[in-house]
Amino acid sequence: MTIELPPLPYPANALAPHISIDTVNLHYNKHHAGYVANVNRLLNVGGEKSPPLESLILKADGALFNNAAQVWNHTFYWKSTHPEGGGDPDGYLAEALSRSFGGVDEFREQFASAACEHFGSGWTWLAQGSGGLEIITTPNAGIPQKTGKTPLLTLDVWEHAYYLDYRNARPAYVNAWLEHLINWELPSSLLRSSGG
Ligand code: MN
Repeated sequence: MTIELPPLPYPANALAPHISIDTVNLHYNKHHAGYVANVNRLLNVGGEKSPPLESLILKADGALFNNAAQVWNHTFYWKSTHPEGGGDPDGYLAEALSRSFGGVDEFREQFASAACEHFGSGWTWLAQGSGGLEIITTPNAGIPQKTGKTPLLTLDVWEHAYYLDYRNARPAYVNAWLEHLINWELPSSLLRSSGG
């Protein structure tokens, strides 16, 4: 194995009741782990060191890109989510969100709209673009780095992320995540470290 599945940052039952242990187990142990296995099969470099995941997702295409980006995106999603998340961000991030979106509530509304209106499978992101913070969505395994933006936070809107708990009600999943699980610490620390 050349790419490894990073450990979940919390126990599989820690996101309940907003995301159930069954969803987390399926999502992490089957989907996320499955993408890791696919990358290793596709690389097929037996014993040789694989390129770092960060360079793989920038350079690869086709099935290797899809699986490598899904590994990266899921690891970032688990970090974007936290059992003690939700609430409001610290002052530094709140000011940045206000500059770009008009306020924290406005950010939540615009992020929820983008996540709910995204057609089909994909990801909703808070990203840093050249003109400030942006909310973007990417289809399938898409990543903001491909369009020169820096990811700060992501929400998985593939059906496997919520169907067991919310069936087809994506807005209920999105709103529960924004209210209870969003990990403001991630974009806050990434923004501070980039000087943004
Ligand atoms: Mn997923």
